[in-house]
Amino acid sequence: MAVKILFKHLIIISLTAFLGAIASAEELDASAEKATTGADTSAVTATAIELPKNVQPRPNAGHNFYLFANHSWVSEVEIPADSLSAGALNEARERTEAEIARIEADLLARTWPEGSAEHQYQIFYHAFLDERRVNRRGLKPIRDSLQRIRLAQSHHDIAAFMGNNWPYAGGLFDISLKVSQQEGRAYIPKLGLARPLFGLSEIYLRDDAHAIALRAQGADMLEQLLRRGSGRFGVRKRVQAVMALETQLARLAPDANAERDPARSQPLLLAGELAELAPDFPWTHYLRAHGLAADTRLSLAPFDDLGAIADIFARTPVAVWRDYLSLRLMIRYGAYLSEDVAIMTESLGQLRAATLRPLPSRAERASDFAQWMVPNVLARQYVERHLTEETVRSVEAMAEEIRAAYRRRLENADWLSRQTRIAALEKLECLAFMIGVPPDWHTSSTVPGADGDVFSAVFQKFRTRHVSTLARYHEHPPGGMRDVATLRQNISFSPLQVGAYYLPRLNMIVLPAAYLQPPFFDPEADIAENYGALGTTLGHEIGHAFDDQGSQFDPTGAFENWWTPKDRARFDQLAADLSAQFTGFDAAPGVPLDPQLTLGENFSDLAGIETARDAMLAAGARQETPMDDATRRAMLQRFFLSYAGKRRRVRRPETDRQFAPRDRHSPPDLRTNIILSNIDAWYDAFEIHQTDAFYRTPQDRLTIWPAPD
Ligand SMILES: [Zn+2]
Repeated sequence: MAVKILFKHLIIISLTAFLGAIASAEELDASAEKATTGADTSAVTATAIELPKNVQPRPNAGHNFYLFANHSWVSEVEIPADSLSAGALNEARERTEAEIARIEADLLARTWPEGSAEHQYQIFYHAFLDERRVNRRGLKPIRDSLQRIRLAQSHHDIAAFMGNNWPYAGGLFDISLKVSQQEGRAYIPKLGLARPLFGLSEIYLRDDAHAIALRAQGADMLEQLLRRGSGRFGVRKRVQAVMALETQLARLAPDANAERDPARSQPLLLAGELAELAPDFPWTHYLRAHGLAADTRLSLAPFDDLGAIADIFARTPVAVWRDYLSLRLMIRYGAYLSEDVAIMTESLGQLRAATLRPLPSRAERASDFAQWMVPNVLARQYVERHLTEETVRSVEAMAEEIRAAYRRRLENADWLSRQTRIAALEKLECLAFMIGVPPDWHTSSTVPGADGDVFSAVFQKFRTRHVSTLARYHEHPPGGMRDVATLRQNISFSPLQVGAYYLPRLNMIVLPAAYLQPPFFDPEADIAENYGALGTTLGHEIGHAFDDQGSQFDPTGAFENWWTPKDRARFDQLAADLSAQFTGFDAAPGVPLDPQLTLGENFSDLAGIETARDAMLAAGARQETPMDDATRRAMLQRFFLSYAGKRRRVRRPETDRQFAPRDRHSPPDLRTNIILSNIDAWYDAFEIHQTDAFYRTPQDRLTIWPAPD
């Protein structure tokens, strides 16, 4: 294992030394793009054959294809001071943010009718910007709650405050409303562990020098905050007691692998059954405070030892819980309190990513606040300007082309029995795509608290959210059997997200509007470039419907097994073979990659490339018949380069190390190099040799769904 890691690092070092001398593969993309801009797509494939003179397929593509495609970017990239990473996703995000800033400036400069969403936006923006006003109020908006915490005398009082939804500070546990796994079509409250004050358990669990320094910084920040909240000095020891408490809880946080395993979620429990599992916590007090009756059925996060958490609750003195809850309350609402507290909580929030960066200005935070309060107003303008009907139609066509590629491969998958194959095909047909905007997009709701007071607006917003959450639960308790079409209509997301995802419980893929831009999708680009980027994303997301976890949900998103035991055993063997390929590598320098944690993503990457490649060739063949070998090869080259280009990303090393233990994605170079080493067409397109580092013999290459000949 160690040898393999060393080998990999040697390759990177030698290749980096070599980089200055070779031409940039990205120049290929850039020049081809220039040449094809404005051309109709039928001309594009012809352009792809004529590679720029300084770019030739090179034998070292097989050493590190990720760097082969991205080396000039990697050598020149700088992470902006206020960012954690740079890469393809960041580029699209920055472009979206710049456009949103322009839309906002325009909105703020104009006069809008009273009561309109734009007018409300202006009120919230200016209210937040009014620093003098929030400073005058200081901690007054949460003073009563702080007083209530101070008066807590017993563990029952503490539990009641933790469950208290008004104002909700959380603490120890956290309750969220989820679509039930067990009964597929109903809403159900899910009980998990509350997020630590530092945002991430790893900060407490790591013992390297950087983590020790982070904890010391965090302790200073908590001390300032507690001093501010309690009006007392000399709170160092009290902060240390809170941190010791959080360290114990961090050790009992559900394991990252267990969290992604739907089978590990406990069956539905009645509140009374919780008391049997964890008798040292006053569940009735807690749930009643949250508005949930004793006969409420809950689902549980995969705790190894809920009893131990309850035991910590009972053993920790009330005084420590009082400080813990005061800190939670201040952190949760700090952004809306006086500027000094807002700055303290903003800095504390940065610890999660293990690096302190310049803080956003009050004006930037005012924008975030107004967008949170009146979510759709800027997004609507963005969508009007950037999401054309033509884009939606093209993306739909690509999605259907890839679905068809999956259909052909599933029909051809001779390792599946007929029974399982039919079920898989049914799941594929039931899968839905939501492209651009959510269904409720056109209904605009009035925003409570638009009278200019920041804090009362925030309280109103949380209250409204909590009430509607509870109402949803009471309307559709477990066993309520909502159908999947209705649940799909209820989902909400921001069209400004740059990313794509699969929702197993709805068997649905979401592609927000802001993701449908370069380098992921470009209406001006040729099909090789678009299938290499957005196409492999679509293939990847469909892949999640059949990965080690997604494959446990049926076509309507219910947690139902549709595999015969024999087929499942073959699937598990394939998964084990893929995991073996990822064994022995690092997720971040010094952090070993967990092949089990990353299995779902690795699986979907491989299935996604297989099918996006088929779909591109099918679409290409329709554009140009017959397609000669040179055209086909050039197309595949651009497809693989576009895929590697989409993967480009660098992260701050300290952030990388902190996120790696829970990151379900392999690092971008492995998502490129290992995955492509399984694809025959990649070997042909770039003349990969046996001496290349990522060469794999044909019999060692894995295929999830075999291609029909
Ligand atoms: Zn994924």
